[in-house]
Amino acid sequence: MGEIKTILVTGSSSGIGLGVARRFAAAGYNVALNSFEPESRVADVIDGVAAAGAGRAAYFEADLSARGAGVELVERVIAHFGQLDVLVNNAGIQKVSPVEEFELDDWARVRSIILDSSFEAIKASVPGMAERGWGRIINIASAHGLVASPFKSAYVSAKHGMMGLTKTVALEVAEKGITVNAICPGYVLTPLVEAQLKDQARVHGISEDEVKREIMLAPQPTKQFVGIDEVAELAFYLSGDLARSITGTAISIDGGWTAR
Ligand code: NAD
Repeated sequence: MGEIKTILVTGSSSGIGLGVARRFAAAGYNVALNSFEPESRVADVIDGVAAAGAGRAAYFEADLSARGAGVELVERVIAHFGQLDVLVNNAGIQKVSPVEEFELDDWARVRSIILDSSFEAIKASVPGMAERGWGRIINIASAHGLVASPFKSAYVSAKHGMMGLTKTVALEVAEKGITVNAICPGYVLTPLVEAQLKDQARVHGISEDEVKREIMLAPQPTKQFVGIDEVAELAFYLSGDLARSITGTAISIDGGWTAR
């Protein structure tokens, strides 16, 4: 790589976001990490990403549920690194509840972290990318950006919204060397899901393997979790020059879930 490129991954203190950050660090990128946690609590994560490659790593605390936080985050990253070349909108939370009991605040929180912050970060990233004639925007959506499951109305709606945002912005920036795509993972074995495995096994009185097979992987035909490394590699591919014609699309990585 000639010039050192900079990537921002929102929600990158754990799970998929951290995996993506490490993959790009290993390829020599400068990496902007983010979560709502104070920097002191994620010092090991920052050190780990910095050690993964030759580029620089920096942490930007920002609670993306707040209006304007996505714009401000991108402005801080650009002020620090000088430019932003790859934006990965990854921060997300889940809330499970029947629609008639769904709290208005929970709906707003899920929507703002997943959808509003993605819009804001894109809005603030596009001008610099357009000026340089090169940019990559990757939205980590979900199988739930394409199909629904009950009791996840806010999450499914926000992830479907991400798909509309992906397609619209892709059309707007298509002639500027910027691609915009969504990655739609099925069940990924993140630390969060691993913790759930143990809890569910205890609560149901079954083995962790049975929880995986009979509860978590029921909709996933391969009966295998998607690896964090698989999602990270796909994001890396989409950021390459050979992916310059892939734009405005959703790429599933879900073990066949949405083929049903
Ligand atoms: P995770 O909980 O391990 O990571 C979520 C990240 O988002 C963390 O770094 C967290 O600090 C950050 N975050 C949460 N709220 C935030 C806020 N208000 N402001 C800033 N950062 C915040 O989860 P994960 O499983 O790695 O999920 C990452 C993304 O992938 C999410 O958008 C999720 O919807 C999506 N996804 C996950 C799965 C899965 O099975 N794990 C499947 C499909 C899609």
